[in-house]
Amino acid sequence: MDWKSKLIHFWSGRYGADSLGYGMFGLCIALAAVNIFIRSLALQIICLIVLILAALRVFSRNATARRKENEIFLKIFGGVKKKWNLLQRRFRERKTHCFRTCPNCKTVLHLPMKKGKHVVSCPCCKHEFTVHIWLL
Ligand SMILES: [Zn+2]
Repeated sequence: MDWKSKLIHFWSGRYGADSLGYGMFGLCIALAAVNIFIRSLALQIICLIVLILAALRVFSRNATARRKENEIFLKIFGGVKKKWNLLQRRFRERKTHCFRTCPNCKTVLHLPMKKGKHVVSCPCCKHEFTVHIWLL
């Protein structure tokens, strides 16, 4: 058996990387960056433990348990990422579009920047509401 087939055999059935793994790795980098200034042994050990746990998750063969952990992580931090992406988009398109929240279902609507009073229909719940747009 050559090294390539050994490697393929080793990785078969392993869980691999996911969002929680990347989050743990990011946490580790952040802790290491903070530790440059603080120089704490405890923080260094915590960083090492997080790194080892992230590696164990990658090499784990219990994919069901790892998927459940990842789902819990995404439930907690998935909303934060979504809000951050929306904030970036709002800033990027601040001169061409405006964003309004539907009063019925709280969906954020992406509307073209047209001065005046408009009646808008929400694509999700079909609720109609009035939007005032003032240009700067
Ligand atoms: Zn709606």
